[in-house]
Amino acid sequence: MSHSDFSPERKPGLATTALHAGRRMTEERENSPALFLNSSFVFTSAAQAQAIFAGSEEGNIYSRFTNPSVTAFEERIAAMEGGEKALATASGMSAITTVFLTFLASGDHLVMSRSVFGSTTTIANTLLAKFGIQTTQVALSDPDAWRQAITPATRMLYLETPANPTLEMADLSLLAQLAKEHQLLLVVDNVFCTPCLQRPLSLGAHLVVHSATKYLDGQGRVLGGAIIGSRSLLQDHVYPFIRNTGPSLSPFNAWVLFKGLETLPVRIEKQCDNAEQVAQFLQQRLPSGQAVHYPGLPNHPQHALAARQMRRFGAIVCVDLGSLAAAHRFIDHLQLATITANLGDVRTLVTHPATTTHGRLSAEMRAAAGVTDGLVRLSIGMEDIADILADLDQALLRSAS
Ligand SMILES: *Cc1c(COP(=O)(O)O)cnc(C)c1O
Repeated sequence: MSHSDFSPERKPGLATTALHAGRRMTEERENSPALFLNSSFVFTSAAQAQAIFAGSEEGNIYSRFTNPSVTAFEERIAAMEGGEKALATASGMSAITTVFLTFLASGDHLVMSRSVFGSTTTIANTLLAKFGIQTTQVALSDPDAWRQAITPATRMLYLETPANPTLEMADLSLLAQLAKEHQLLLVVDNVFCTPCLQRPLSLGAHLVVHSATKYLDGQGRVLGGAIIGSRSLLQDHVYPFIRNTGPSLSPFNAWVLFKGLETLPVRIEKQCDNAEQVAQFLQQRLPSGQAVHYPGLPNHPQHALAARQMRRFGAIVCVDLGSLAAAHRFIDHLQLATITANLGDVRTLVTHPATTTHGRLSAEMRAAAGVTDGLVRLSIGMEDIADILADLDQALLRSAS
């Protein structure tokens, strides 16, 4: 096996990293990565088994611990996020659960944005609560709320920015400063941005978590997750948890995701192009009072922050059509966009958060998270922009009655 290393003087760009980081080649000299669909690995002698188990020799033992296809994906996503190390998990939720259970203990306190993925809120309020870990949820964009929520028992700050599905944002440098002052771990779910648009570790976050299911795959095929950060946090803390509890990523999914990362930079670029046009189109097309949420629009309350913190504004556009009935009518009239709970696909997808992804939250929690009944989330794909706009236009026209 050989790695293709970059010369230490030259720092490759993100597109090059996406294509070359983590590459390995077997003696068959394959150009595209081989798939290591193996649960365990063979030792040449009992002494080698002993040495690898003891850690004095490097090598794979069992795919719950490490697997070459999974390691390749980990090396590539770590390089793209600018982290020393990554560990992959079976889904985004298992990455998030792993981070919580690795770094929080009974009696600890978590400060979390109130605008996070639905299951993340559920985990905090049920699983963590069951183990005596208290959570305070705060307004994502209000630094004072974060500061005031910190107690002597607080160990971690957790957020997504921009938030799903409101696209509200947090200033990561400011929260990193706060985390530093109070010696807390700052954990950022970077699903909406991917490393192509935002690199939280470079702004002072300690850990990034991903649902690789979304943009990293980008083609709606597999579930996966990743945790990225410093070698010490990952190797000394996260790795023993994964190795012993087993939320490990399937080698097949890792192999799919490894290839998915190769096209991520070009997909994101095209999807951002399309999303910018969709946001402008909707803003012109909709009657005033029906809000379009997109960080790239100058009237987004945190447009300046978005312009500073993100390289571009992402491919999620949300629109508030005023009522549940209007939202459902619009969604049902879309022909090109498909109705699904996923996001980040190369095809344009549409979701009604209040009755699906956020349907299990109480009405108060939904309101606090900004998920109104009329809110529609569009995950903009790579279709020809004229076709996307034509679809939105006809759906708005036909659902207006
Ligand atoms: C989908 C998603 C998750 C959960 O990921 P899974 O791969 O579905 O487990 C977490 N955070 C965000 C922002 C997501 O969109």
